[in-house]
Amino acid sequence: MIKLISLDLWDTLITDPGSLEEERDLERAKFIKNVLNLKESDIDTIMKFFRDLVHSFKNPSKENEWAIMPETQLNKLFDILHVRPNRAQFEEILKVYEEEALRKPPALTEEDLPQTLAELKKHFKLALISNTGRVPGRVLQKILKDMGLLCFFDVLTFSDEIRRRKPDPEIFLVTCERACVKPDEAVHVGDSVNIDFIGAENANIRPLLYSPPPKEPKRTPFIRSLKEIKEVVKKLYD
Ligand SMILES: [Mg+2]
Repeated sequence: MIKLISLDLWDTLITDPGSLEEERDLERAKFIKNVLNLKESDIDTIMKFFRDLVHSFKNPSKENEWAIMPETQLNKLFDILHVRPNRAQFEEILKVYEEEALRKPPALTEEDLPQTLAELKKHFKLALISNTGRVPGRVLQKILKDMGLLCFFDVLTFSDEIRRRKPDPEIFLVTCERACVKPDEAVHVGDSVNIDFIGAENANIRPLLYSPPPKEPKRTPFIRSLKEIKEVVKKLYD
């Protein structure tokens, strides 16, 4: 019997419409340039670093484990720029780097998501399992609270807090432990085949791919809307 539904965050519950992520990165880059008195052309170097960083978020590997923490992301960037900020400058940059998403928050993937989660919560425990990037778990919690989503979750697992990322089975297993359920009593829902679907499978948790139109589903089972979760889980697994 399924007792826990865990959900991915980015592009499953929340998403950056249009070029919002790039706009945030440009603000971050300008701030770093100003604090460290860099050249105008260094903005391009910083923006290229951010694009490479996003690639490493989408392709987690042993080699890019440094990308788990915002602090180590910044240190990598400072190495590339050949600059060494003092402690006060580092702290000032880190704060803006992490909190820029509060000023330009993401949007819900589905307008009626709060109602969907409220309905799911009547039948299952709910957990969130998120690989974090430039925005750490503590800031994401604030964003979730502002969006009215935080109250639905029994367990929150953020990669920067446990220093493990999906698809590492450990992050799924820790979440089950926190929710007091066995892996075979859990279903994980997420938009990424490599990170969510295969990660859950490797932890012996049942996967469900979130593949909203116009995306073509690349794995089965899949859902096109989060509203289908309850029905699909009951039909397939109960
Ligand atoms: Mg995702």
